[in-house]
This record gives sequence, C-alpha cells and structure tokens, in this order.
Amino acid sequence: MENLWKKESNRPKIYVNPFKGIDEEYVEQVFDWLRQPNRRRLRHKIVSQPIPHDRQLRKRKLTAPIEVPHKQRKVAPKHGNERKGFNRKAPPAFSPKLSFARHNQFPDIAKVLDVKHDAKFGRHFIANRNIDVGEIIAVGRPFAEAVVCYSSSKKFYCLTCKKIGTDFIGCDNCADVKFCSKKCRSLNHAHQLECNSIYHRIESLEIKLAIQMVLNAIQGFSNADDLIRYFEKLLANNSLCQNGLILSLTKSSREDNILRAYKAYQCLMNMKSINNLFNSERTKRFLAHLVLHYLAIIPTNVWDSELNDEKNFAMRYIYGAMSLFNHNCAPNAFYSIKDNYGYCLTVRPIKKGEQIFVNYLGDRVEESKANRQSYIKREWGFVCDCERCKPKSRRFDTREMVEDPSWEYINSHFEDYLFPLGSNPRNRLRDECANFLRRHGNNWTKTLDNVIKLFILAITHEKR
Ligand SMILES: [Zn+2]
Ligand SMILES: [Zn+2]
Ligand SMILES: [Zn+2]
Repeated sequence: MENLWKKESNRPKIYVNPFKGIDEEYVEQVFDWLRQPNRRRLRHKIVSQPIPHDRQLRKRKLTAPIEVPHKQRKVAPKHGNERKGFNRKAPPAFSPKLSFARHNQFPDIAKVLDVKHDAKFGRHFIANRNIDVGEIIAVGRPFAEAVVCYSSSKKFYCLTCKKIGTDFIGCDNCADVKFCSKKCRSLNHAHQLECNSIYHRIESLEIKLAIQMVLNAIQGFSNADDLIRYFEKLLANNSLCQNGLILSLTKSSREDNILRAYKAYQCLMNMKSINNLFNSERTKRFLAHLVLHYLAIIPTNVWDSELNDEKNFAMRYIYGAMSLFNHNCAPNAFYSIKDNYGYCLTVRPIKKGEQIFVNYLGDRVEESKANRQSYIKREWGFVCDCERCKPKSRRFDTREMVEDPSWEYINSHFEDYLFPLGSNPRNRLRDECANFLRRHGNNWTKTLDNVIKLFILAITHEKR
C-alpha cells in the first residue's frame, strides 16, 4: 500500500503520482481500439476473450446450489394451476424486507446490530439483543454494480433493471447500452455520465466496478474541493459512512492494480463531466488515488452472481455496510441477492453480543476442511477457526435432535418448499424448520446444516 494516499514531500497538498512508469502508449492503443465504432468487431472481441483479470478476481460466491437432503425421494408436489385450492395467478415472489427498524447510521442494516471493531475481525456487526431465526437483518441496493456479457448471446440486459431479453430499445445518444422499456431508459440518470464514453466497452468487470464506485461516491458533489475535503476527513478518522470509504483498506488489500487503476482513471477522464470536475493536477491526483483505493478493496468485498441465472452474463456487486459481515463455515445468517437487493437472513438463533456471520464460499463450504482453509487463506487472507474448522470438530447429532418431533416432520415433508410461497404446506415446513433451529441451532451438525438449507428454501425458493 505504499503509494496509496501518500503526498509529495515538497508539495504537501498534492498526492504522489501512482502511475509513474506506466506504459501510457500501450493503454492509449487499447483505448483507441475500444473507441472504434465497429460494433461487430467489438462484440467479437468481448466474446472471444474471457477477461483474464476477472478470472483471477476473488469473490464471494452467492449462487450456491442448495441441495435437498434426500433420504427417500418422493414425487415433487404439483403446484400452480394443476392443484386444487390455488388460483391461476402467478405465486407471490419472495421479496426481502427488514424485520426491524433501520439502523441510524446505515439504512441497509437493522437497528438490532451494532458495529464493533477488534484486531481479529476488523469491523463487524454484533447483535445488540437476542435475534430469532428467520429475521431479515439487512436489505439494500448495491453501492456499485457492473455487468459483462461473456458469450455470443443475442440477448441484451437492461441497464436499469438488469432484466434479460431481445426486443430492447437503445439509448438516444450511444450504441453501447440497451433498456427493456422507455420507463427504464428515462429512469437511468447515471448513464448520462457514461454515455458516449468507452465505459461500456471495457472488458474487465473489476475496472468497471471501480469506475462505478467512483461515480457513485462523487454523486452529490458539485466541485472537487468539497469532495476531497470530505474524503480526507473520512480517511483521517478511518470513519464509516455509507457512500464513501466504508470499505477501508485491510492487510489483504493488494496494490498490484496500478495498470488497471490507470485504465479506470483514463476511462473516467474520458467522461466529460468527470473531466470538468477534476481539472487540476491536485484534483486529478486525488482521483487517481480514489480509483486505486477502490480497486484495492474490491477483491475482499465483491459479491458475485449470475444475472437472473443467465450464464452468459456475469454481474459483480459492491454492497456498502453489508460488506462488514464476516465469514464463518457454520454461519448464523444467510446472504444473497434478490432483484438486485442484497439481503441477510438469520438462520440460527443469535444471542445478544454475538457476531453475525455469513458464508463467503457458497457450495465450496461443503469441501474438506483442508480445502476450505486453504481457499479462505488464499482468497481473503485469514485463517478460519469457526466451530466447523476447529480441530476435532466432528460434531454429532444429539439424541434430542434426532428425536425432535419437528425433525420427523421435516424428514417426511422436505420437498414441500416446492409449494407456492404462502401456501400452508410450505409455511408449515418453514415453521417446523424454525422450531428445530430454535431448539438445536447452537450445535452445528450436518443435520442442522440440512435443516438450515431447507429453511432457506422454504423462505426464498422460486420456481424457475
Ligand atoms: Zn428495464
Ligand atoms: Zn448512451
Ligand atoms: Zn471455518
């Protein structure tokens, strides 16, 4: 981190130039090529080169397939139109809403959580009261998001709502983006900044994400001096704020990003309004450092998902305060994305003072302890010592667990999550899981894990 936020020794107001020694000509060539209006060639390029930077990008997996424990497979219950008692309307969809009032400082977080800081976990959330299972303790839109199309699909994604389709309309001023409707086109004010710049032709999700973070962070500032003052104050106090530097640099942040930062910086300067805002050496150097800062924190904070299950599109998000949830292989909360909203749902009873943990690994959490540990170490730079990773942590179901009446019910109704949301069988399955988790949630075992998975399915599953 030696270049980051360092000022010149003889000019105390000016940050050092982090881009010294960069092959500017090389970047200029790349950009020249991106500026060419030949869309077909561009499309081909995006298709045939699967973005080397992003393949290395460390990310929190979100698209974990949830496996249903199956002892004896039974026929999935028919639902929707074929089943008596349900009308023909589409079943209601899961839409996450905070179970409690909002936190004063972080509107995405419920006020039952407090931010704590310590040497081992950095900044993290703890419960300031007992929290039941099935509560939504965080919901919010991403601070920044970026999409890339990986393969030669004839489909487009709507820049505003991220819906995927074919008959989309374009922007009036550029040929780089699509919208599903006139409404989505008129709603997207952010695109005015990128319109006619090379932003949408950039191939790296990481660079695009850093650019989006900068664009979002500077929103609301009419001049660069105010912006710099604001950020310098945050940096000096290492303070938390929703739109700014909530994501601070950590030991695992990396600075091998100079070339990428330079590309992101040049792309930003390619946008007219940004160029007008940052028009002096001092302000330009600040912008360069802001880009570098954001790039350094992306790897440990990014969320990853496939867009609406379309494998041709990849999407990466940065969520503000929700990035403070730490990892645990036996977590007490589950996080995911629904319609672009990130949310966090409690899956085990949480006592006052306990930390909230989520699983960063997706389905990789099922791998052996050694695999998990080396993956976590490599990706996020820490050693997990959760109850599942502790030495001799083979945990067995207790007798109370196996003899629990809810367990018996769950075992014989485990496919009832396939009923429509809000239907009686599905609600019953959810409630039996919740009861089981309330009684045995403190003791992590494979059985408990399976009940947690079913509980999540009963709450969130949607027919595809
Ligand atoms: Zn749309
Ligand atoms: Zn446009
Ligand atoms: Zn662990």
